[in-house]
Amino acid sequence: MSSFTRKQAIAAIAEDCIEDRLEITENAITDVYGKDVFTLKVMKEFLPKDVFKKLVQTVKEGKEIDPGIADDVANAMKQWAISKRASHYTHWFQPLTGSTAEKHDSFVEADGDGNVILNFSGKNLIVGEPDASSFPSGGLRSTFEARGYTAWDPTSPAFIKRGKNGSTLCIPTAFCSYTGEALDKKTPLLRSIQAVNTQVERLLKCFGEEDAGRPEVTLGAEQEYFLIDKRIYMCRPDLIQTGRTLFGAAPSKHQQLDDHYFGAIKPRVLAFMTEVDQELWKLAIPAKTRHNEVAPAQFEIAPMFEELNLAVDHNMIMMEILRQVADRHGFVCLLHEKPFAGVNGSGKHNNWSIGTSTMNLLKPGKNPHRNALFLTTLCAIIKAVHVHGDLLRVSTAAAGNDHRLGANEAPPAIISIFLGEQLTDVIEQIECGEAKSSKKSDAMKIGVDALPPLPRDTTDRNRTSPFAFTGNKFEFRAPGSSQSCAGCNIIINTIVAETLDEICTELEKTTPETFQETLQKVLQKIIKEHKNIIFNGDNYSHDWVVEAERRGLPNLKNTPTALRAFTDEKNIKLFKKYGVFCETEVQSRYEVFMEEYITKINIEGELALNIARTMIMPAALKQQRHMAESLLHLRELGIFAGTAEQESLVSRIGELVGNLVAECDKLEKANESGEPEKIIEAMSKLRMTCDYLENIVSDECWPLPKYSEMLFIY
Ligand code: ADP
Ligand code: MG
Repeated sequence: MSSFTRKQAIAAIAEDCIEDRLEITENAITDVYGKDVFTLKVMKEFLPKDVFKKLVQTVKEGKEIDPGIADDVANAMKQWAISKRASHYTHWFQPLTGSTAEKHDSFVEADGDGNVILNFSGKNLIVGEPDASSFPSGGLRSTFEARGYTAWDPTSPAFIKRGKNGSTLCIPTAFCSYTGEALDKKTPLLRSIQAVNTQVERLLKCFGEEDAGRPEVTLGAEQEYFLIDKRIYMCRPDLIQTGRTLFGAAPSKHQQLDDHYFGAIKPRVLAFMTEVDQELWKLAIPAKTRHNEVAPAQFEIAPMFEELNLAVDHNMIMMEILRQVADRHGFVCLLHEKPFAGVNGSGKHNNWSIGTSTMNLLKPGKNPHRNALFLTTLCAIIKAVHVHGDLLRVSTAAAGNDHRLGANEAPPAIISIFLGEQLTDVIEQIECGEAKSSKKSDAMKIGVDALPPLPRDTTDRNRTSPFAFTGNKFEFRAPGSSQSCAGCNIIINTIVAETLDEICTELEKTTPETFQETLQKVLQKIIKEHKNIIFNGDNYSHDWVVEAERRGLPNLKNTPTALRAFTDEKNIKLFKKYGVFCETEVQSRYEVFMEEYITKINIEGELALNIARTMIMPAALKQQRHMAESLLHLRELGIFAGTAEQESLVSRIGELVGNLVAECDKLEKANESGEPEKIIEAMSKLRMTCDYLENIVSDECWPLPKYSEMLFIY
């Protein structure tokens, strides 16, 4: 890759004129919305009445699927899929790699007479057997019994994936081993949803709200990403192979002026976003918000919230669509948490809430009774996050996210809760309030007093907190942009299930006469013991790190440290109790995630060395020779003016080249050791020298596109 390629890429972009790819007719949204989804409406059309009724009970009410209707459902699905030009079906699942997996089977079956029958049976729908021996399982399956099986998840509707020359019916499934262990992210997610919903049901009963509807967990996941021109991307082997730049000096201008955030969206980007929205709407993914983010070339898309399991699937699809549509527009969509050093990284804000279809438990109530329910839920979460902050941290641990957590734009690795001043005040009032009659004017009696109005903006100002109350939900901001939402929501559901369980156990012992008093006491106790997790200040400040340590809050700085907490006895006990993971499932995940981390760092180390030796070193040597020749030339001519200064230039670059050689050798040794810590240190030293060289070596011969080009030319 010579500098010619880099210059050529930029010249080509400059000449480009991207035409609009889409013509949007006036009623396009209503025409396209959900058209590639096997929705209830479609099912009604394609299914016999009684079968449809039974399926609705499974989809809407969580009733177990009646195997007797599988053939009918499969047949309807096939008819519908064929009408969408599908030739294949696939069980679509989410292995521990963090992405989605699919193996296609065609509907084709031969009758022996050269004729074709299009077949898709109930059995094909309900279970699949991908030969999945190559997925990471952390020792859950030995290869001699390699087959896992996929099981249909009827609560997430089947959908059509379109390609250029046809389409595929995708059936969302869970992926398990034959002994029943979960090999994927969906299975434990479904288990955790069930765990928390069971407790919500109990809580509602305690409060006499049996008619509030079926419990539901909701998620709205804001997705951040970068776009860069594909031609520039192709000149960066580090982006191609690791998703992030391993080298690159800071440009003079990056995000200092804050002029990108919410700025006017460039036409080429808007054309991309418009097509993304269209593709998502076809799949009934409710894309809602789109805007420029803080860093140059960084953007965000957010859907309207949905039921958690569906929302997780939808986010997985969204990431895929972002990548695919970007490609069609000559872009590459970078979902890595930190593609560029020195500017903001990308996160995935996880907006989570619990309630029922008719009631959000995290919405401050209008009357004292509803307030009590809200405050009880709030306290359950406060305790859960305080007791299990380590697990929340674990759920965000990954090589990519290590660059983000604790750096200056993302929440720190210390987990704390932001409530806002007013709500914190309420909490403090409960703490000092008395159960019977309170004389203090600033004491709060639960079930008697009303909450002061909490305007949304007062709860939403602090953007530095990892776990923030934002009016009617909690926003967990630590997850990384490329991570599946399943991981952190498994944790949130499970830890909240535990505290709700504890609270319900107390409340169920009460009579109507003692209910309020007991509730007040229970909440007071929680607040007294767990309010240390509440922090409304600046989570980026050094003072907070010190203060958090004083409060005994864990600060798990990197992935290996964080992951270790996963297998703590107390955590294994928790997962077992709520049926979310058995012990071997926890151990296997620990192994899979740790191995993934180590492998990623090893790849980065190898690649950094390769780029430094084969691209940066030759450029530096060329520059050195150029400078030395120029000096020599002057001397030959007998010119002495400025030669002393040039001599110092030559020795400076000589020194840098020397450092470069030495640091490459060190990285080589570190790579051989395979130890992430050593590799990271050696890579960072090497990068400093290389980035320094970038500002000395002639622009003509610098081989890698620069930050000023990657982030600004598109
Ligand atoms: P921000 O101010 O953090 O950028 P946005 O308005 O962009 O917030 O996104 C907020 C997200 O929270 C949206 O996806 C929205 O649908 C979601 N949300 C709103 N209410 C709930 C709720 N009750 N449960 C889960 N998510 C919710
Ligand atoms: Mg947000």
